[in-house]
Amino acid sequence: MFILGRPFASYHLWSLVAPAVGQERWHCQMKRGFIKARQKDPIVKELLAHATPPQRIGILAQKGVYEFHHRSELLSQPDGVEKVAQLLKLNKSTEEVQQRVIQILKNYHHAPLLEGKHIVQLTRGDEGFPRPISIKQVEYPFRLYAAMDCIFSENGSRLHIIDFKTGKSAFDQRQALVYLVAARYLYPHNYAVASFYNLEHCKKSVLITVSSSQLDTIENQLAQVAQKHQQDLRRYEQKPVNFSKIFPPNPGNHCRYCAFNSICEFSGFKQIGE
Ligand code: SF4
Repeated sequence: MFILGRPFASYHLWSLVAPAVGQERWHCQMKRGFIKARQKDPIVKELLAHATPPQRIGILAQKGVYEFHHRSELLSQPDGVEKVAQLLKLNKSTEEVQQRVIQILKNYHHAPLLEGKHIVQLTRGDEGFPRPISIKQVEYPFRLYAAMDCIFSENGSRLHIIDFKTGKSAFDQRQALVYLVAARYLYPHNYAVASFYNLEHCKKSVLITVSSSQLDTIENQLAQVAQKHQQDLRRYEQKPVNFSKIFPPNPGNHCRYCAFNSICEFSGFKQIGE
């Protein structure tokens, strides 16, 4: 049975409600429906339980960075990469995942971004949902979820939030903006900045900084995301048969990469294969 929870927002939800710049053609609201409304349907639950290779590479890369700093002697040992690979039990992954993660570990061992930094927080990447932050100062109060990969302090009190990436996807600035909103609540006495770092291509983003009034605007945008999603969930709860009207599909070739193409009656991928 579907049970409506309290309103919430996160970068993930924002990205499911509205596409990133340049991604408009592939954006499908029905994916949000599967992930955030039908996640307890047994078949959807089963599909969501298995990480895709790109997701698995992201998790292992984050764990690798964590291990390098958790056991910092590994950074200076010539066989540090092999030792971290063992800690990650990489040999249990597919060949593709192993190869890409080994390259990521080699990159990081060669140029450890966080070496010498004062690390405030570094997650393993498999901790699950972070504790929500209650945002009440907006017209529509909501809970904010923001799982930050790493925070370090620089120049005394400035906090730098880093999000680690793998693969080829472009950095979506909205993710950094969500972290900066979260930092305002979690670290109210510190000024925070954010950036992305691609562990696979050793590529840094520009530094993302925002003013207090810009943070207010982002908070209001997140409140609108929370409200829109809550309204959609309520409509779905009242009339599940309207699933495809509430979360309209956007079929096309991109369905090939969608985790739900095997159960989605609108999948462009299935139609091509038939
Ligand atoms: S298979 Fe295509 S239409 Fe169906 S949810 Fe996925 S992207 Fe949307």
